[in-house]
Amino acid sequence: MTVTSVDTTRLRLTAQDGSDGVLLGTRCTECGVYSFGAAVMCLHCTSAALEETTLSTHGTLYSYTLVHVPPGGWPGPVPYILGQVELPEGPHIMAEIVDTSFDELSVGMPMTLALQNVTLPDGGEEKAVYKWRLKGGSA
Ligand SMILES: [Zn+2]
Repeated sequence: MTVTSVDTTRLRLTAQDGSDGVLLGTRCTECGVYSFGAAVMCLHCTSAALEETTLSTHGTLYSYTLVHVPPGGWPGPVPYILGQVELPEGPHIMAEIVDTSFDELSVGMPMTLALQNVTLPDGGEEKAVYKWRLKGGSA
């Protein structure tokens, strides 16, 4: 089965079944600051001289919270853990943290990208979405 990325400006799949992929972003050629996803100008120096780049699929847990009231159309279980992970390049990426319990987490833990296929409520089409899991945790 072929699965497509939920957001092609942020996630490029490298496996047709959605099991593997890379995060996309831009790098400012003026000041070197990285951003996650598409951008029209650098948020640090406002330069428009951006080049597309791939970003690391691992980082450290910067902050996290337990979400009891999800956004409309949220396809997963509730409550869920929402975490902000800082990549080695600098950007912070917010996504659900899966395969762990809230009590196991603490700031600074190593995290790795976890891709999951979900069926979005609006279409019934399967999309690959990016999430985080503890590095070294079970798949
Ligand atoms: Zn810049």
